[in-house]
Amino acid sequence: RLAAALSLRRGLEISDTNDDVGRLVFSEADGIPGLIVDRYADVLVVQTLSAGADRLLPLWLELLDEMLSPTAIVERNDTHSRKLEGLDVRSRVVSGELESTVVVHDGGLEFEVNPLLGQKTGYFLDQRENRLRASEYAAGRCLDVFCYQGGFGLQLARGGAEEVVLVDQSSKSLQLAQRAADRNKLSVKTEVANAFDFLHDQQVDGQSYDVVVLDPPAFAKNKNSIPRAARGYKEINLRALKLLKPGGILISSSCSYHMSEEHFENIILSAGMDAGRTLQVLERRSQARDHPVRLGFPESRYLKCFVLRAI
Ligand code: SAH
Repeated sequence: RLAAALSLRRGLEISDTNDDVGRLVFSEADGIPGLIVDRYADVLVVQTLSAGADRLLPLWLELLDEMLSPTAIVERNDTHSRKLEGLDVRSRVVSGELESTVVVHDGGLEFEVNPLLGQKTGYFLDQRENRLRASEYAAGRCLDVFCYQGGFGLQLARGGAEEVVLVDQSSKSLQLAQRAADRNKLSVKTEVANAFDFLHDQQVDGQSYDVVVLDPPAFAKNKNSIPRAARGYKEINLRALKLLKPGGILISSSCSYHMSEEHFENIILSAGMDAGRTLQVLERRSQARDHPVRLGFPESRYLKCFVLRAI
């Protein structure tokens, strides 16, 4: 099964790039419930999120070593979902040697990824294709809110934006983003701020943008939190729309599985109505193809990414 999953990744490379990152195994969607394997250049990161997959961890490690000969394999089993399975929480280098960061190529840009300490397995692989796509909408002043390492913003800068502002509440994330900008010889401004406050203050300040990207963490972590999450999504989308110039582009994501695409669309519509803006959907996107959706297993489709024009 592992060999089959790995062979399915062939042909999914993004053309015209020398990318060396991607998800190699996506759990149930690849027929191996609970197993996640991500690649960062020569380093593999493994998660076993179900009790069954966890019991087989030694086997996965042996097989991955044999089939892919990575320089190191990291176990990132520090997710909350493991606690629900009654599993312990740990992250460590399980084989080979790892310097603290790995330099990777993604969408024609270089990033430093820390597989032991970075968010998720070190980086957000699921937005890869959407970030690359965003570069095609680059124009004038661009804002990347909830930027982490600046993945969207750097693509906008690469695509020819005149000015790119990156916003995150974590100063550590913004340091990573600034390093990535320097590494790629791109110019960005960084703002450590709570996104809700920042968007509000920008409006009071009379600022406007040609492109705004919203990529918040999952606001709805379970069914019960959907109403609260909906208010959060509505608020950031409304505030972002108020900052958009006529004809401006909003790239708005939700990675909450519990928030359906239809519900998310309605929230954006309602934000548009409150902002007095008519919205055109240019693209309705999802997670990158190396996070395939298994039909009949709706949990495997979690990422929504709308590209909208606000008129
Ligand atoms: N767009 C990124 C991934 C974003 S992950 C990429 O493509 O790689 C979500 C980010 O939102 C995290 O970096 C987290 O620090 C940040 N964040 C969470 N809550 C926030 C808030 N209220 N205000 C600003 N940033 C926030």
